[in-house]
Amino acid sequence: MNSNSIKRVVIAGGGTAGWMAAAALSKTLGGVLDITLIESDEIGTVGVGEATIPTLVTFHRLLDINEQKFMAAVQGTFKLGIAFENWRDRGEDYIHSFGMTGQDHWTAGFQHFWMKGRERGLAGDFGDYCLELKAALESRFAHLPSGQINYAFHIDATLYAKFLRKFSEPLGVKRVEGKIVEVRTHSESGFIESVRLDSGQEIPGDLFLDCTGFRGLLVEQTLHAGYEDWSHWLPCDSAVAVQTESTGDAIPYTRSIARDSGWQWRIPLQHRVGNGMVYCSRYISDEQARTDLLANVEGRTLTEPRVIKFRPGQRRKHWIKNCIGVGLASGFIEPLESTSIHLIQRAVIRLLQMFPLTGIRQSDIDEFNQQTTTELQHIKDFIVLHYHVTRRRDTPFWRYCAGMEIPATLSHRIDLFRETGRVFRAPNELFAENSWIQVMLGQGIVPEQYHPVVNLMGDAELSRFLQGIKSTVDKTVAQLPKHQAYVEQYCKAMD
Ligand SMILES: Cc1cc2nc3c(=O)[nH]c(=O)nc-3n(C[C@H](O)[C@H](O)[C@H](O)COP(=O)(O)OP(=O)(O)OC[C@H]3O[C@@H](n4cnc5c(N)ncnc54)[C@H](O)[C@@H]3O)c2cc1C
Repeated sequence: MNSNSIKRVVIAGGGTAGWMAAAALSKTLGGVLDITLIESDEIGTVGVGEATIPTLVTFHRLLDINEQKFMAAVQGTFKLGIAFENWRDRGEDYIHSFGMTGQDHWTAGFQHFWMKGRERGLAGDFGDYCLELKAALESRFAHLPSGQINYAFHIDATLYAKFLRKFSEPLGVKRVEGKIVEVRTHSESGFIESVRLDSGQEIPGDLFLDCTGFRGLLVEQTLHAGYEDWSHWLPCDSAVAVQTESTGDAIPYTRSIARDSGWQWRIPLQHRVGNGMVYCSRYISDEQARTDLLANVEGRTLTEPRVIKFRPGQRRKHWIKNCIGVGLASGFIEPLESTSIHLIQRAVIRLLQMFPLTGIRQSDIDEFNQQTTTELQHIKDFIVLHYHVTRRRDTPFWRYCAGMEIPATLSHRIDLFRETGRVFRAPNELFAENSWIQVMLGQGIVPEQYHPVVNLMGDAELSRFLQGIKSTVDKTVAQLPKHQAYVEQYCKAMD
């Protein structure tokens, strides 16, 4: 145990993780900490990571970040969910939206009422009862009073890091450009004492945040935290990314299009579109993935396609000694539900909640690692669900996904929903009931029964109930402006 007080924080890495950590630490504890961020222009950042989830809105509120300025600076657009195309089967689509669907009864979720409505021929699509989903389909968006619309952002990742740098430096963050070539540790405790740059400069610290990306220079290469590999559940291990010109108005949702050996993303920004193919290298070569991606983008390409290799999983220890892995350095599930930036934010908030100002305690380390692992395992299950529950059997990749063994926790959720229509959210889980329901229905699970409380409503009453929700959704959506027009008026980028 180290009883030295923690004053000098060194952030190694200036990607999204490094700068989010710098922004939150300097805003919250800048007055008592001495924060240095090291980034290497020569190495650069991973350069992807442009779709977010609604928790980023909260993160920005905590930091007092002005949304209009942020959006204009990152060429941002709004995101209401993700369209999953060809996932359940070829030619079949659904949207996982950020909204609530319908109205729950305290004993039973809305899905039970909807299921009976379907059986009786009284209900439309599940998504007809969700504001965000209908708005996404009609490409409409506006802020509504009292947070009635849940949204996230599409952002340019490079511009986001620059924006956060401008935010953090006035709050005292010292930025050092240079490549870390050596990490020095204490001969007995093994704690990191300093990092040395290629210029010869040595930067000492009390606490080190490893934000160096997949390489995990401190947490793995120096402290050997270990890695838990999840590729047997998440077979995709590669991506190829390319940017293209916009060809039309920006839509307010991410597109995820299932392909023969993986899936393709499309993320609309104000000035361009981010595209990529995530794939499993056992079933398709890098060259073929690149060709398939280029055959399936719209608009002129603005960059050379770039291949990125990854290994889905997590560090066995996210916090080890006086070093915490944040961002890709702490693991990577895969980008399907845009959860990585959220996990950066969670790591930073967790650190702030248990900041070891008077010295590092093992109990803090254990708690931090336990919370992080639980959170990651939940997200992993949710993502595995998309791959496993599919009717697709048309390629070796999809046959593998459909046949693979899945975590017992996920099996249980699927069985429970299939047999009873029920979903329960454990405390601190990221994805709420409505997310699980949208994806499980979307991927083709049909529950065998609905809750008996539904039978208290006769057909006429059930029809009025469903119709009432649908017409409120329709009326609200009809009043929203087009997303493109709203972006132009609310947060148009300067160039
Ligand atoms: C294909 C793909 C798609 C993704 N899509 C999404 C998405 O849509 N949404 C989402 O939330 N997340 C997504 N992610 C994850 C997201 O990209 C990352 O979580 C995010 O960019 C944070 O990266 P990072 O800062 O941890 O690492 P990086 O961006 O790799 O930054 C590492 C930093 O460390 C520095 N560095 C490294 N070594 C040294 C050294 N020796 N000396 C000095 N500096 C060093 C680098 O210069 C850089 O500044 C995606 C990831 C991939 C691979």
